[in-house]
Amino acid sequence: MKKRVGMVGVFLECNRFSPVTTAAMFAQGLDLTGAELQEELAQMAPLTLPDTHGFMQEMSRTANWDPVALRMAAAQPGGPAEAAFFEDFVQDMELRLKAQGPFDGIFISSHGAALSTANDDPDGQLFTLIRRCVGPDVPIVAVLDLHCNVSDAMTEALSAFVAYRTNPHTDLKARGVEAAQHLQTLWHEGSGAVAHVKLPLVPPATAQLLEPGTVYQALMEEGQRHVAGAILNVSLCAGFALSDAPKCGFSVVVTARHGCAEQARALAGQ
Ligand SMILES: [Zn+2]
Repeated sequence: MKKRVGMVGVFLECNRFSPVTTAAMFAQGLDLTGAELQEELAQMAPLTLPDTHGFMQEMSRTANWDPVALRMAAAQPGGPAEAAFFEDFVQDMELRLKAQGPFDGIFISSHGAALSTANDDPDGQLFTLIRRCVGPDVPIVAVLDLHCNVSDAMTEALSAFVAYRTNPHTDLKARGVEAAQHLQTLWHEGSGAVAHVKLPLVPPATAQLLEPGTVYQALMEEGQRHVAGAILNVSLCAGFALSDAPKCGFSVVVTARHGCAEQARALAGQ
């Protein structure tokens, strides 16, 4: 039986003090649903982000699966999304999840530093809704920007959390491939565990460069040394301070194999 994987995306990096991002701005960027999205995902060079393309390619190379296009939207970095757009997005997603389920897995491509004019954690709201709709045992894997502002609502809803490990960001496709590999591991072994620790610091943009010799690069390499055995992924997210939200700040997020939640918590807190 082919595995059915719901494809979801919402990508907006929010500066609290910039003008509101409207539905029209998403329409100018990317906002595709259903058959239109399905067609776009099948293109050689789709408009969706490279993480999604990498995920699709790796799944098609290694799994017997069908992508089920739900909705993917992206806008240029800007101010908070207008509340009506985001509420519509969530309601529309719920209808699509109910109409097109059941699913064997969900893939989410998200920036993770979105705001709406009514909500400081729309990503958390969306991820929670998806978890509620698909149930506790369906793996939900997400690829997020290194500048995502991570909340517990986001990580508690996910089965695997994969953030970019480069800045400037050059590894989106590789992280999509990685997410596909984690999804298949979780299918074989059972749903994974995601642990999140928020550090009491907000690093400035000038401290977020990743290249040899920088502190952030040394931290990233230290994190990767722990990826083996029970640990599937270590993500170190600097966050996006200009979102000016309660969930801003540096986050350590660890994804472990099924049954290894304690190892994930221990490493994240280390
Ligand atoms: Zn970024």
